Amino acid sequence: MIAVTKTAPATDVGLLAELGITDIGENKDQEAGPKYDESVGYPAAVGLTWHFVGQLQTNKARSVARYADAVHSVDRVRLVTALDEACRQRDRTLRCLLQVRLDAPDGTPQPARRGGVVPESVAELADRVAGSETLRLAGVMAVAPHRADPRPAFDQLRQVSERLRAQYPEASWISAGMSDDLEVAIEFGATHVRVGRGILGERGARR
Ligand SMILES: *Cc1c(COP(=O)(O)O)cnc(C)c1O
Repeated sequence: MIAVTKTAPATDVGLLAELGITDIGENKDQEAGPKYDESVGYPAAVGLTWHFVGQLQTNKARSVARYADAVHSVDRVRLVTALDEACRQRDRTLRCLLQVRLDAPDGTPQPARRGGVVPESVAELADRVAGSETLRLAGVMAVAPHRADPRPAFDQLRQVSERLRAQYPEASWISAGMSDDLEVAIEFGATHVRVGRGILGERGARR
């Protein structure tokens, strides 16, 4: 389970670490970087695994590669190139998940602005990640379509994952499921759920 701490302060990251949470998720670089720096002031928070789960602009790749252990939103070749360059400069490696854009249950395609690569292009993008020296192909990620039954989407994601693992067995992560649909995601094979409100309460309504 990844605790998504966006909008929550670094003190909450420290508290979650004391409670035994090992994985933290953030979706904006400008918030995540300073929060990471501040959180290392909490002894329990040293050594946490940081997941970048939001859409990522190529010009932020270098910054994200400083603190993130995994990026869940890899969805285009330019981003693969930028992350690889950033990792070379920082002499480190990064786990990458391919974010897949899934159709709504009625077949309507998801808007491109929500990010993600279409299922047909997953294999090509996977080759690019696997072919880089610094990036580790870890698996797939998706956000279920808004206000719709998530089952068809999670089922589609599981099939994409199966095809990917046939070629890259190490790419075993399925990052799916948030506060409202994590049980369903697990039914459909999720290995990583990303939970924000379910742990920290409604954003903007805390304390
Ligand atoms: C905010 C966010 C989550 C967590 O959402 P909740 O509904 O608060 O559980 C998960 N994944 C991504 C990509 C997010 O941006």
